[in-house]
Amino acid sequence: MERTDCIVIGAGVVGLATARALARAGRDVVILESESAPGQHTSSRNTGCIHAGMGYVPGSLKSRLALRGKALLYRFCADYGVGHRNCGKLVVATEAAQIPALHALMRKAEANGLNDLRLLDAAEVREMEPALRFAGAVLSPSSGIVDQHELMQALLGDAEAHGASLALNAPVLGGRAADDRIEIDVGGAEGITIAAKTVVNAAGLGAQAVARGIAGIRPDSVPGQVLTRGCYFVLRGRSPFSHLIYPLPEVGHGTVHVSLDVGGQLRFGPDSEPVDAIDYHVDPGRAPFFYESARRFWPDLRDGDLVPGYAGIRPKLSHGRASDNDFVIQGSEAHGVAGLINLYGIESPGLTSSLAIGEHVAALAVTG
Ligand SMILES: Cc1cc2nc3c(=O)[nH]c(=O)nc-3n(C[C@H](O)[C@H](O)[C@H](O)COP(=O)(O)OP(=O)(O)OC[C@H]3O[C@@H](n4cnc5c(N)ncnc54)[C@H](O)[C@@H]3O)c2cc1C
Repeated sequence: MERTDCIVIGAGVVGLATARALARAGRDVVILESESAPGQHTSSRNTGCIHAGMGYVPGSLKSRLALRGKALLYRFCADYGVGHRNCGKLVVATEAAQIPALHALMRKAEANGLNDLRLLDAAEVREMEPALRFAGAVLSPSSGIVDQHELMQALLGDAEAHGASLALNAPVLGGRAADDRIEIDVGGAEGITIAAKTVVNAAGLGAQAVARGIAGIRPDSVPGQVLTRGCYFVLRGRSPFSHLIYPLPEVGHGTVHVSLDVGGQLRFGPDSEPVDAIDYHVDPGRAPFFYESARRFWPDLRDGDLVPGYAGIRPKLSHGRASDNDFVIQGSEAHGVAGLINLYGIESPGLTSSLAIGEHVAALAVTG
């Protein structure tokens, strides 16, 4: 049997950030990834938005880790040359009846410790976004975008520079608690068992399956899972917007956001559709929903200008809005296996929070 100090299961952005934090703390780390490359699932199938941290339950992990993660992420991107842009976000009321909701959002942001939101006057909005149809808008100046692929490459590079190693095509099949170690069975071409003092389960959509496969875990500690697909449609040609545009939800109408990638390409989405399995197919038949939702705030969108883009699946624990549900990060007191840390429900803002989650988990691995 092989032995190491720490195993991180999953090479998405959260596993990589955690491996980096552990390696930087002087721990020996092996990252086990079932796919043939890192970041093939949720971490490369999202909006790429650096969220400001405005709408969460005050005091929740999401609230604290998004705010801390945003600051760490901007610094990391600058230090490691990761493509990003602090382009700002407009949260938009498309009808006058929604203006009170903008004020409520500003109050919620303050309760989350975010004090830089600003209600814009109409002239300011027109100057910033001439193509936008709006009744009111709030600017979030600290929101931005990041190139997820470059981020993951940089995290992996820094983790490796501090001694971590990545094993690809290395699916975790199961494991068990054994004395002061956890034994992890790894499949692939040459199946092996590795024992480690600390194991971090950052398997994303696979986190529940990994946890259920580790003998010794209290079964009732493993939360349920609800898969919700989010699809994007991409705009042909130049973007009319330079900020992220997030319309407030409206009763009786669909809502899609505008995001930009670092190259300036605009995409609308994600929508929301419950699915039974991990299936990243984008149904071109969903186009009418995207046209109708986008024209609520951009009436000039022409027929034929949207093309199906990509899809991601939210690793949710229950139905409901991402802002109302929290991340679940469990140590042994929750599940019964010393040295094991399980991460569940790392949906949005997991990308924004990744460096802060890594920091948080590395600290737990010392104390827990
Ligand atoms: C549609 C959508 C939009 C989003 N938009 C944003 C956004 O704009 N901003 C933001 O902050 N967040 C956003 N998020 C959330 C963010 O993308 C996730 O929180 C984050 O990517 C989660 O990363 P992860 O490393 O936990 O999971 P993943 O990226 O899924 O990584 C888990 C890894 O574990 C591996 N794995 C699974 N099972 C096993 C096994 N048995 N053995 C070994 N390896 C295994 C997988 O192959 C995978 O590589 C969005 C999510 C979605 C779905």
